[in-house]
Amino acid sequence: MKQSTHILSLTLILAFSAACRSTSDTPDWVWFAGDLHVHSSGASNDTDGLSWPEDIAATARERGLDWLVLTDHSNSTGSMHCEDVEDCPNLGPEFPWQDEVTRLSDATFVMVDGNELSPVARSPGMGEARGHVGCLPPRDGFTFDGAFIDRPDGDVTGASAVEQCVAVGGWAIVNHPFPGVPWITYDWSTTTGFQGLEVWNGGLRWDQGDERALAAWECLVASGASVVPVAGSDNHKISIAIPGTELDPPLGQPRTSVALEPGTPLTWPAIRNALAAGRVLLHEENTEIVASRDPESATWMLRGHSPLPSRLELRRIPLGTNCDPSDPDGTLHEVVFDASVEGAFEQLTPIATALEANEQGPLYAAITRDAMAPSMEGDVAMTGLIATLLPQSTGGL
Ligand SMILES: [Zn+2]
Ligand SMILES: [Zn+2]
Repeated sequence: MKQSTHILSLTLILAFSAACRSTSDTPDWVWFAGDLHVHSSGASNDTDGLSWPEDIAATARERGLDWLVLTDHSNSTGSMHCEDVEDCPNLGPEFPWQDEVTRLSDATFVMVDGNELSPVARSPGMGEARGHVGCLPPRDGFTFDGAFIDRPDGDVTGASAVEQCVAVGGWAIVNHPFPGVPWITYDWSTTTGFQGLEVWNGGLRWDQGDERALAAWECLVASGASVVPVAGSDNHKISIAIPGTELDPPLGQPRTSVALEPGTPLTWPAIRNALAAGRVLLHEENTEIVASRDPESATWMLRGHSPLPSRLELRRIPLGTNCDPSDPDGTLHEVVFDASVEGAFEQLTPIATALEANEQGPLYAAITRDAMAPSMEGDVAMTGLIATLLPQSTGGL
């Protein structure tokens, strides 16, 4: 397996503009955990017929997920009879489970039907990067009943996948930009137009590909882009239990939690609003970090839990830095504050001071470890990212 040199344990991204803050803009958020990247049988032919929406919903509820998005491959939706995962005719329709997910949702659990546009590299060899683009539904679900264009092999770019998603009202996420295999690596034919970047994909937990994706996200933010970092499991077989195997990530590991204001009903429009605003927390099951401010004293706290000895960092991304997101050369962030943490923690942090001193630099917080356990056993290598309030809105709803 790939070795990673650092582990982000859980990062609460807290990027915000000092100029936009007021003493009343930090309500006591309520967090709802979800999975943005899940494949199902009947629409993704690489699930081996082992993951049906009803079973996915049941497992999600067991694992404490409040919501999830089915993101089946565009290159096999409608052509499940095709044996070769990457060589199917694209028949569509792309969202076959819209009625089923409505049936499986209620006031405490929301499931929606999205897609993972999956253009492929030119055969033979599959050596060219193209990329996979997650596509989240509009408020009321997709009305598009055609088929996304992901063929001919090698002719459909990542930029085309992003455009096709956005054209039908979707919220586009560049998934696993640096997966370690060439044909699903993002081709960076556009660095604009997508609203999310999957900086943490469940395969191999937190790995070097995720590390590079985080660096690419920092680069995009440093360049002034409003791109929300997200995590998704990429689960293909619902029977895989946490912590999973090297190449088979379990549902909900990692997960993206979103923050809603107290009293807000759990609905897809509310979840999508929170995603678009960047109020996200990327984490594994037992690790978390959130930031909050006492309105009386204006004191900022980072609160959370880490089951293993970890380092808590408050990071600032310097705006205006020259960098190339397609080939990031290490992370850009500066560490503004750090502390050792283990178990439940509550840390007073100099967020307010950092904001005043660095008005142009978005902040986020992370829990990191120095190394990942070489074994995939146990719930040990949590990683992640945090809640974001990016400087600008990140895409209309
Ligand atoms: Zn993919
Ligand atoms: Zn996938």
